[in-house]
Amino acid sequence: MSSFRTLNDVDVKGKRVLLRVDLNLPIENGVVTDTTRIDRVRQTIDEISEKGGKVILLSHLGRPKGQVKEADSLRQIIPSLEKVLERKITFADDCIGQSAAAVVNDMMNGDISLLENTRFHEEEEKNDPAFTHELAKNGDIFVNDAFSAAHRAHASTEGLAHILPAFAGRAMQAELDALRAALLNPSRPVMAIVGGAKVSTKLDLLGNLVSVVQYLVIGGGMANTFLAAQRKSVGKSLCERELVDTARAILAKATGENCAIILPLDGVVARKFEAHAPSQIINIDHVEAEDMILDVGPKTIAHVIELMETCRTLVWNGPFGAFELPPFNAGTNAIAKRAAQLTKEGGLLSVAGGGDTVAALNQANVATQFSYVSTAGGAFLEWLEGRTLPGVAALQR
Ligand code: AMP
Repeated sequence: MSSFRTLNDVDVKGKRVLLRVDLNLPIENGVVTDTTRIDRVRQTIDEISEKGGKVILLSHLGRPKGQVKEADSLRQIIPSLEKVLERKITFADDCIGQSAAAVVNDMMNGDISLLENTRFHEEEEKNDPAFTHELAKNGDIFVNDAFSAAHRAHASTEGLAHILPAFAGRAMQAELDALRAALLNPSRPVMAIVGGAKVSTKLDLLGNLVSVVQYLVIGGGMANTFLAAQRKSVGKSLCERELVDTARAILAKATGENCAIILPLDGVVARKFEAHAPSQIINIDHVEAEDMILDVGPKTIAHVIELMETCRTLVWNGPFGAFELPPFNAGTNAIAKRAAQLTKEGGLLSVAGGGDTVAALNQANVATQFSYVSTAGGAFLEWLEGRTLPGVAALQR
């Protein structure tokens, strides 16, 4: 049994289900350009509807900051929603008050409705109790299927869970199961790969991971700060020199926690930060003053793969190099492909997510072959930092 309440714990038949989803979809000129987020919550919507519940969708869109803005109206996403769900959706032009009540009161069992952007009220982000009670008037139970918004304690992501009986939707459940398997109760050894541009955005994450994983592989631009901390020359590479002492503290903490930190042994260097810039592979001790390290080299790739083959769990955030600029995607691609293969063979549980990681894994054509890829961004990173996410805590048994 999960430690949080799920749809297995409730009979939704005939109930008004306030279902918090993340329909913060990318929109260009009023047209939705990617429906992945609808696909993710479709199972929950279908299940509640098929079981005879009334599905009342709540979501934010954009950052209207308490103002009613046409550009952030959820009305724009109705055609996409109806297309993906293959169902008619009724829409209320406010998430509280008379218009919401009128739409909800008209619903039959199994119907689906969408209420207007919760962030058109500034009380949403303030988790205002009076506003939360107004939202709760239209529901008998609350289901949260928006893991990507669970790091915010807002009225529709956290407040409602304290007023109505609250449950995780299927997408939330899958995300929590994957993240728990990867970090809370993982099969060891565990390898974490942390790459990307800067150490400064990932300090808490690194600090937490050294206490939980056996191998912490540091790649990308952020590895350069660690190399500088070891008094290696990094030339003109991206490097946060002001964080060199912090990097040393992380290295020392890792030693105390029996976590091996794996840094690049070699790199691919170029003099220009652009696709197909002339480049060469060099040993990491031979970076020249004009060089920029833009990817890891073959020795590093082989070393990481060799260690990964001994691991049972992999958590991955951030690319090994400037993956948008070929050929500096080679390191990320090679290691991602091996991780996918090990996953397929059944020896490795692989969980990835956050920032550009999904794009990097898509580019390597392996995103669907990992055990789980989170598109949750900030919430995923906060989870890796070891924080309690308020929207998740509120669903605990
Ligand atoms: P993040 O959002 O922190 O995961 O960082 C991803 C970004 O880091 C991508 O845009 C990569 O191009 C960039 N990046 C990775 N490695 C390097 C590197 N060695 N030098 C410069 N940028 C890098």
